[in-house]
Amino acid sequence: MSKPLEDLKVLIVGAGFAGLTAAIECRKRGATVILFDSASSRRQLGDIISFGSNSGRIFRSWPGVEEKLDPICHHSDGLVFRAFDDDYLTTQKWGAEADWGKRFNGHRGEIHEIVWDHAVDIGVEIRLGSKVTEYFETDTEAGVVVKGEKISADVVLAGDGVRSTARTIVLGFEDKPKSSGYAVYRSWMPTDKLKEDPLTAWLADPTIDHHVGWLGPDVHFLVATLQKGTACSWVLTHKDEADVEESWSAPGYIEDAVKAVEGWAPIVHAIIRATPEDSLVDWKLVFRDPLPTWISPKRRIALMGDAAHPFLPTSIQGASQSMEDGVTAAICLERAGKANVQEGIQAYEKIRYERVHAVQHTGVTNRDNWHKADFDYVKKNPESVKLPRQDWVLNFDCSTHAYDVYDETVKSLREQP
Ligand SMILES: Cc1cc2nc3c(=O)[nH]c(=O)nc-3n(C[C@H](O)[C@H](O)[C@H](O)COP(=O)(O)OP(=O)(O)OC[C@H]3O[C@@H](n4cnc5c(N)ncnc54)[C@H](O)[C@@H]3O)c2cc1C
Repeated sequence: MSKPLEDLKVLIVGAGFAGLTAAIECRKRGATVILFDSASSRRQLGDIISFGSNSGRIFRSWPGVEEKLDPICHHSDGLVFRAFDDDYLTTQKWGAEADWGKRFNGHRGEIHEIVWDHAVDIGVEIRLGSKVTEYFETDTEAGVVVKGEKISADVVLAGDGVRSTARTIVLGFEDKPKSSGYAVYRSWMPTDKLKEDPLTAWLADPTIDHHVGWLGPDVHFLVATLQKGTACSWVLTHKDEADVEESWSAPGYIEDAVKAVEGWAPIVHAIIRATPEDSLVDWKLVFRDPLPTWISPKRRIALMGDAAHPFLPTSIQGASQSMEDGVTAAICLERAGKANVQEGIQAYEKIRYERVHAVQHTGVTNRDNWHKADFDYVKKNPESVKLPRQDWVLNFDCSTHAYDVYDETVKSLREQP
């Protein structure tokens, strides 16, 4: 049976979750897809990453992927909130959103590997060690330059992350990041040392995963255990005015992390001190103003994921939104067809733009709800620390939405002066 994109050639830059999702979704519609990544080899990088129900449904639509994700992901029925002195505040149960669909939280590298394997299985060509150094486009084609070689296609989808160079091409100027005033110490570690300390041994529970958040003035510390009590991941978000540098591999130091929670409960210190220093990362959180556009002048190159819209982790939506981009771009290309790629790319931007910016903003409101809280108030009103879980964000099917609104979106684009 013929597929709608069999005559389309798509180049994708960046094998993160935006790039892999776009690649899978274009390939399953028949397109020829080449995916370039600058990394020289596939490595399991990162630590904990969260996918809400809105992107969980995308994983579940890919045959065999959910079954592989289940055993490596975190499974708890709620997030326990405690104050910095370890006073119990409240528990946020996820039961109320059960019918929104499954969430997947786990090691970024492990989840990434499963999605990567699926992309390769369905025929996506992935070229590693392939840093894209230039982009070009005409009215009839678009392409990239890799190691001096010019490669052309019908369209280029660029998901090259927070330090995107594609963004500069699309905008025509370099969009500098700004410090958000916060940074995150993060770690993924085995639980061996936690087991040795009576204060922390309960976390390494083989029968149930734990998810606990300790909150204090302008700092929050979240801990999750998974994989039958053998793995633990924690993130400590704190004030940081240091120079802006985005990196998933900048080393962090235990003493610095301990200093950020001075005066906090002994259990918090014990978890940090049980962390092997070589597993600690210091990640600066940056902001970028919303880009005026995600698409190139001739509308054959489009930005996706963090390249188009970096998220604060407190939105818990960065990876999910990058996947929604990938699905939406593929559907718009399907509906547009090879002859109307440029219209499809315009529709992709229009369908995604406002939703993404609204979700991005939740990162700031969620963070401020925890960091700016008055703890006398919080102790009297513990429910106030619960994360808002919005139906419009999480109970959302980006695929159905794109099919539903494509025609009206194109109509409104055609009517624009
Ligand atoms: C190494 C790494 C570790 C991460 N760890 C975590 C984590 O632990 N927790 C978390 O929540 N988020 C993590 N993230 C970020 C998270 O994956 C993204 O915020 C989110 O999933 C959106 O993904 P993305 O595809 O837009 O960008 P990314 O995931 O950043 O992917 C961008 C990809 O583009 C490639 N690339 C960049 N420039 C070029 C170029 N010129 N040519 C070719 N390829 C290029 C990069 O190698 C990378 O693979 C990590 C990202 C990276 C790259």
